[in-house]
Amino acid sequence: MNSGIRFDGVTVAYDGQVVLDSLDLTVAPGEVMALLGPSGSGKTTALRAVAGFVRPTAGRVLLGDRDVTGLPPHRRGIGMVVQQYALFPHLRVEENVAFGLKARRVPRAELRERVAEALEMTGMAAYTRRHPRELSGGQQQRVAIARALAVRPSVLLLDEPLSALDARLRSGMLAELARLHRELPDVSFLYVTHDQVEALTLADRIAVMDSARLQSCGTPRELYRAPADEFTASFVGNANLLPVKVTSGGASFAGTGIDVDTARIAPGAAATLCVRPHLVGLGEGPNRLRGTLAELQWRGPTHRLHVDVDGHRVMADLRELRDPPALGDPVTVHFAPEDAVLLPAGVSGDDG
Ligand code: ADP
Repeated sequence: MNSGIRFDGVTVAYDGQVVLDSLDLTVAPGEVMALLGPSGSGKTTALRAVAGFVRPTAGRVLLGDRDVTGLPPHRRGIGMVVQQYALFPHLRVEENVAFGLKARRVPRAELRERVAEALEMTGMAAYTRRHPRELSGGQQQRVAIARALAVRPSVLLLDEPLSALDARLRSGMLAELARLHRELPDVSFLYVTHDQVEALTLADRIAVMDSARLQSCGTPRELYRAPADEFTASFVGNANLLPVKVTSGGASFAGTGIDVDTARIAPGAAATLCVRPHLVGLGEGPNRLRGTLAELQWRGPTHRLHVDVDGHRVMADLRELRDPPALGDPVTVHFAPEDAVLLPAGVSGDDG
């Protein structure tokens, strides 16, 4: 099995400017790993280092147990799909898909078989004779995926593959990619995106990047339920991040005692309470906070209340709110102790 990816202290710098800082990350064989982070955080650079288009200034890239750091891209056994499809406009669909196979001098009969198989897998078998300009954006991206799969890669690299598609197509293609991975369970996917929904939906694990560094890594559920730091909490899902004081007696926010697990925080340390807006309820309950309604947004399935509690905004997403309070009304909200986590305050740049 040669399909896993390992970044071993991979650093990339341009003109002395470090854009990827000593990345250590392992993608297991057959795993879907999302690289999630804001624009400019180094995601594409990391992916291009695996592809061989970027040469690390330090560190190694391994595919399976092979050190490929010095290998040219075409000898790495990878397939790559980018945002802009990058199809050859003058070539028909089947020729586009065959391109990488021709370059690898795959015999003619096998080439035809592999092209047919890849187009079948991506639902494009009926379009073999068309040119890219005769296809929709979604269809072009399917051809680009077919081209990447035709080389039977052990690793599939996807760089914002859905960004150029409209929202409806995007959700369909997301389901398609999940199905493709089920059909190719041994192929590792490395999926670059700035879209948390794509990462949460598709990935087995998510690596969160910020400012050239790996911020945290875990399953979608781990990062969502128990993020390790403020950056991850706010980038993966919405979060209330509230300053709390921790003493040997427990935690408090805005002068009110909070029932929450304080085991991770040393007494006396400043900490941040993270609770998801949809886990904040209206009315009396455990961890009750009293404030006034500062803003009310109707979002279709939910109302979002912004409650001012002692100068801090607490967001609550509520379903079926028949009688919403008016702006300025006194409002009480609450959350269950098990729905909140404490994070060390203000260490979002530290991945130690
Ligand atoms: P992301 O994919 O997270 O948006 P990138 O990896 O594309 O981020 O870029 C990270 C940083 O590296 C950015 O500041 C970008 O401007 C810089 N960068 C990327 N490629 C080059 C290059 N070829 N030359 C100089 N700087 C680059």
